[in-house]
Amino acid sequence: MSRTRAALLVALAAAGLAAGGCGNPSFDRRIDQGGRGVGEACTRASDCRSGLCLSRVCAASIPAGACSPSGRRPAIALGAVAGPAERPADVPDPPCALPVNTAVIGPVQERGTHVPGDEVSFDVPPGTTGFTLYLQEVDGTAPEAVDWPGAGPAANAPFPQLVLDAGGARFYDDAASPPIVDGSRDYSQWLLFYAGVIPAAGAVTIPNTTTALDRVRSDGQLAPGAWRFTLNDLAAACTTTAGCTGGSTAGRYDVKVVTRAGPLLSTGTLDLEIYLVSSDPAHPEYTAANAAADPSTNATAAQFRRLVDGLQSLFARAGVCLGTVTFHDVPDWARTELSTPSIDDSGPCSELARLFRLAVPRNAVHLFLVDELTTSASGSGGTVVGLDGSIPGPSGVPGGVNSGAAVVLADLGAEAAPGACSPASPFSVAACGTDVVSYIAAHEAGHWLGLYHTTEATGTALDPLADTPGCPCGTCRPASSPLPCGSALLSAPQCAGGSGCGGGDNLMFWQIDPSVARGTLTPQQGEVVRLNPAVR
Ligand SMILES: [Zn+2]
Repeated sequence: MSRTRAALLVALAAAGLAAGGCGNPSFDRRIDQGGRGVGEACTRASDCRSGLCLSRVCAASIPAGACSPSGRRPAIALGAVAGPAERPADVPDPPCALPVNTAVIGPVQERGTHVPGDEVSFDVPPGTTGFTLYLQEVDGTAPEAVDWPGAGPAANAPFPQLVLDAGGARFYDDAASPPIVDGSRDYSQWLLFYAGVIPAAGAVTIPNTTTALDRVRSDGQLAPGAWRFTLNDLAAACTTTAGCTGGSTAGRYDVKVVTRAGPLLSTGTLDLEIYLVSSDPAHPEYTAANAAADPSTNATAAQFRRLVDGLQSLFARAGVCLGTVTFHDVPDWARTELSTPSIDDSGPCSELARLFRLAVPRNAVHLFLVDELTTSASGSGGTVVGLDGSIPGPSGVPGGVNSGAAVVLADLGAEAAPGACSPASPFSVAACGTDVVSYIAAHEAGHWLGLYHTTEATGTALDPLADTPGCPCGTCRPASSPLPCGSALLSAPQCAGGSGCGGGDNLMFWQIDPSVARGTLTPQQGEVVRLNPAVR
């Protein structure tokens, strides 16, 4: 588990502009590996010439799903106002005691309330291809942060210390160290990557690494039977760590487990809930009614239609069909108080958490469009234009402190040249601000669905997927850089292609630079997304 808040920022660089490409996903494998042909038995992908083993048989491609994202125009709906009409009284903070949220998807296993150190068992039925552990603080029992030696204030994140599969084999050990490849930590060889960075809540979704994807594909399921995990939080770990202050073993957490059945398919369907949280006096027209109006007669509706179509074109690369995109207003009090939320506080009573708790009780990705994300931190690397409540998001358990992603909508409708955002103009983050908002929103939704930055900003941590291009600091930091690895930031142009320095074009790069951003997604990124419980 990462001890620092990372992996969450998208920065928008002020840079030259270029058009983005567009294409359909291909999930056919390209790498010749083992010697076995299609139809022959296998145990892992490396046995097969196709590089793909499905349920112990070498295959040419992943079976087709029920929908086709190519050229799709998602349905847009007008939803109810989200959140209480009257401003609720402030929750005393500390302790910021909040109710536990209920699951709106099934099957859910309610595992009750547990404390750090408890071993919690749950059932993985035959045919299960993924599961999520949901951890929610109960009654404000846990401190928000501890002072971790060498790291300073650190959010008291709950996390699984140890996960054992049905055979008793170690699936995840938080105390282990990953292999170092070219100066970067490489988690693709692990079965689970988890980085809890906020207090009070966490969602741990499996599979999210190359090795776990291979296991799920090749076995056709996760090992069925009784799995176990040991609950921990940073405050409890602090009590046994020399030099750490602020520790506590008082935290209590509600544990839910949602399992996902069914095979991996080439496409899947995702619903979006989009909340308009603008109080910009220049844009009173940013209402859900306008967003859902007829785009042929309403200019605001036309831009929101373009926003949704742009999201679909980006998600098509992950094999995702957007089902229904529902726009919501929030009550006036929320629009006034939360349209420029501070991102400096990650606590359960922070402005971001209050915003995310407005989410309606539906299984979807919940995107909150705000005017600005404010911070007292210096703007190294660009302006923060998007932030997730957590990675991954709590799919199917909405209304919690991490139940959303915030996206800045300030660029909506801005045109580099007249007509760049008109219906006839192609998708371009270089030319059309609405497409920039689509790009940010797709990136944040990617985080919600389990994707990390292909390479973190300092180039010292890679995502847990082997087919995403890396940009490791040891190779890619310019020799002229005055800063050492760990301090230097690797920009998108520095990670834009050759010599083992890639990923700047990927949707999940940490920085959007229109000169290189293409919204690329790899086959494994698509698989992680489609196995998330929010995708059906
Ligand atoms: Zn990001």
